Parts: sequence; C-alpha cells; structure tokens
Amino acid sequence: MAIRNMVYEGDPLLRKTSREVTAFDGKLATLLDDMFETMVQQSGVGLAAVQVGILRRAVVIDVGEGKIELVNPTILKTSGSQVGSEGCLSLPGQFGIVERPDAVTVRAQDRNGEWFELTGTGLLARALCHEIDHLDGIVFIDHATRMVQPGETPPPNKRRVTAHVKKVKSE
Ligand SMILES: [Zn+2]
Repeated sequence: MAIRNMVYEGDPLLRKTSREVTAFDGKLATLLDDMFETMVQQSGVGLAAVQVGILRRAVVIDVGEGKIELVNPTILKTSGSQVGSEGCLSLPGQFGIVERPDAVTVRAQDRNGEWFELTGTGLLARALCHEIDHLDGIVFIDHATRMVQPGETPPPNKRRVTAHVKKVKSE
C-alpha cells in the first residue's frame, strides 16, 4: 500500500466527471487500498478516487464503523434531512454548513464487481452523498448554505450511523 498525492481545490481535475470502473483487477484493488491508507493518514472519513488524481468512479468511506468500498455507486433513494458541518480533504481548513438527506440507499459494486445495496443514516448518509458528488465534479461548497468562519467552532454532527448492507443480484 502507498500514500497517494492528494488533489486540492483549484486543480481542474476536482471538477471533472469520473469514468465508470470496468476492470475489477489488481490495479483497482491497489487503488482502493491506497485510497484507504491515504484517507487514514489524512484523518478523513471518506475519499473519492479523483482526490488522488484518478478519474474513476470509486469511493472509500470509514466513519468509524469499518471500511466501506463503493465502485460505480449510484444513489437509489434518500429520505429526511440533516443540517451540519462538512469539510473535505481536498479543501483543508474549510468547513461549511450543508443540508443532506438523513438516510441514503446506494447501489454499488465491490472490488470484485459484485453488486450490493447499502443504506446509511446520519454521518454515513452525509459521507455517501459527499463522496458520490465528487464523482460528478461536485464539491461540498457547492451545497453549503454558508461557510464556517475562522475561529467559529463548527456545529457537531450527528454521529448516529446505521449501516445496512445487502447483496443484490448481479446484472
Ligand atoms: Zn471531499
């Protein structure tokens, strides 16, 4: 595993649309492993491949409940809403107030190409929306109602996280 170089705000890559993953091979496994290592080193809770310069639809998340890998994820359904602060490893030191759904169901593939569905609430729902946005060149400041000012303590987020994963029939 290796720490990858991060892409930061101002780099045009961050605004590009990532391409579908089509090869479920050793290269994808290495990318996902490296993304985890990079995310942990940066104390993040999520990372999209574009943030390490790879324009592929792959995401890793760990909100403290274990590793989640999402390849080619799409949001199937959302419900409720939550308002809280959000930051991004590509925008160090910046936080904004962002409204997100309170529950999100995602369909995605794992590193072997197997399809599954994942439902997350609270912080996990927020992370799912944030990371999947990255795959379409969207950054949290696009949704922020306001930015947290220097010296202001960002309002705490709901930590409540429930993750429900189910395997689905492959296509
Ligand atoms: Zn981000």
